[in-house]
Amino acid sequence: MENNMNIEERYMAMKSEISALAVKSGRSPEAVQLMLVSKTVPVERMLKTIELGHKLYGENKVQELSEKAPALADKNIDFHFIGHLQSNKVKRCLELASMIHSVDRMSLALELNQQLLKTHSTMDILIQVNTSQEESKFGVHPDEALHLVESVAKLSQLHIKGLMTLAKFSSNEDEVRPCFQLLKRLSDELKAKNIPGVEMRELSMGMSSDYRIAIEEGATIVRVGTAIFGKRDTPDSYYWPEDKSI
Ligand SMILES: *Cc1c(COP(=O)(O)O)cnc(C)c1O
Repeated sequence: MENNMNIEERYMAMKSEISALAVKSGRSPEAVQLMLVSKTVPVERMLKTIELGHKLYGENKVQELSEKAPALADKNIDFHFIGHLQSNKVKRCLELASMIHSVDRMSLALELNQQLLKTHSTMDILIQVNTSQEESKFGVHPDEALHLVESVAKLSQLHIKGLMTLAKFSSNEDEVRPCFQLLKRLSDELKAKNIPGVEMRELSMGMSSDYRIAIEEGATIVRVGTAIFGKRDTPDSYYWPEDKSI
């Protein structure tokens, strides 16, 4: 994307590029949804794309989500949660998000289910898979994904809609593409198993640096922040802490 364009221009350009890439990958122009990742982006800046009619936003921290969602309550937009979810933030997250992309362990699924039982509600989720197998990334190991999906599928209040991943952070396409191919392969395998209650319709993969490759490999949701809103002040290590215990 050209840096001298403003948010509105970058957004419109990306929307048409995504449709074109979807068609090029043999799908309908609407087959790939754009999620705008609004972490660290102030509400006033988000209004620029909200005013263009964009409805899907992604947040990475429950704290930030709980400040922004009420401020934008009258805007009829949807937030998906895409960050590492700590157990003590589960309740608040369920109140504010319409989908959680980052379920990567049974303990979290159980916590979500228990909380949802109390309010007699359900939640759409994606299972996050660590396709790059980098230590610093969250997500279930690919070899354990089937087992996790089967176990989570038994929980009455959670509806599995697909898989999510972060590819390897690399400018080398040959390291990035296999991550997306692995997620797609897992999704196809899971689909073939026809696990009751499990839908494999969403593949949430691709960010500013690699959304084109992700779409070629079958993404149905791309999560784009920087390429639309500009560079963030906070380093990404803040969002993907090395210390998995926090
Ligand atoms: C920040 C973030 C993105 C978007 O990253 P950009 O490089 O700004 O497009 C996508 N997915 C997740 C999980 C993120 O935390």
